[in-house]
Amino acid sequence: MKIIEACQGKAIELKAGNSLKLINIHGSQVVDLWAWSGSNLNEYLSLEATRVWSQRLNPQLGDTLVTNMRNPILTIVQDTSPGIHDSFMACCDLPRYHRLGVKGYHRNCFDNMLESVSELGYEVPNPTLASLNVFMNIAVLDDGISLATRPVETKAGDYTTFRAEMDCIVSLSSCPQDIVKIQSDVENKPREVGYEILDQDFSNFAIKSTWVPEYSLD
Ligand SMILES: [Zn+2]
Repeated sequence: MKIIEACQGKAIELKAGNSLKLINIHGSQVVDLWAWSGSNLNEYLSLEATRVWSQRLNPQLGDTLVTNMRNPILTIVQDTSPGIHDSFMACCDLPRYHRLGVKGYHRNCFDNMLESVSELGYEVPNPTLASLNVFMNIAVLDDGISLATRPVETKAGDYTTFRAEMDCIVSLSSCPQDIVKIQSDVENKPREVGYEILDQDFSNFAIKSTWVPEYSLD
């Protein structure tokens, strides 16, 4: 297992068919995830297009994540966590911390994403605040429209595995948020997380979509 230190980011190049296992070592940590086509960084993971594809608020085990060009890029093929992930909330960035009262610099997921991709020798042409927030617990309340920000419910050692559906670059950020109570650490302290590239063949996982054409042009 490789380690992403607390408050740091890491970008990883995957070939189609590779799987990336993301391990919540302490069980308390939110991890922000972005993905781009390996051959064209103008094509990237789109949560809004993923919601159209899956007809779900947030992705679950077996769901495929798609790009802004509507192509499958990642599929969730393992998930030992309670399956609570968030696709609503913008990643943290420096303006967010300044709004929260921080003076000066504070590490943040947006910069972690940019820095991690540049370490691979690439530049993100259209950086977006829209990350998949793995393990993040944003509850939809009973009125169906209000959201509540809650601590992670994952246990130590829980993991979620993503299979690459195309050659791609994935960026992971061990979220540095230590003001808003999103980590389940008692001190809301950001912690390290782990990852592995698996040899295991998840080819039994067929891509599924509940997509059906809503309108006929006939
Ligand atoms: Zn963050």
